Amino acid sequence: MNNSNWYDRSKSPPIDMEHMREVLENPPISCGKECCPKDEHGNYCECITTVFPNIEHYETYLELVKRRIESAFVDLIQTKN
Ligand SMILES: [Zn+2]
Repeated sequence: MNNSNWYDRSKSPPIDMEHMREVLENPPISCGKECCPKDEHGNYCECITTVFPNIEHYETYLELVKRRIESAFVDLIQTKN
């Protein structure tokens, strides 16, 4: 797979929030395993580079995951008190 544009933020297509939501619901669970083939830079495996068209999308996804965890944590604290 030619993913030379994957790291080029200027080539990032508009983010499809519907797709983002789908990925949040169905995260790339196989990712992080030893068998995951990495890209030519050795940074991101195919689970990431096939799901997200550009690094910018992946970073947005990570931000959404983080916010989701934080909001779940806030909910947990609020229900405790
Ligand atoms: Zn992977």
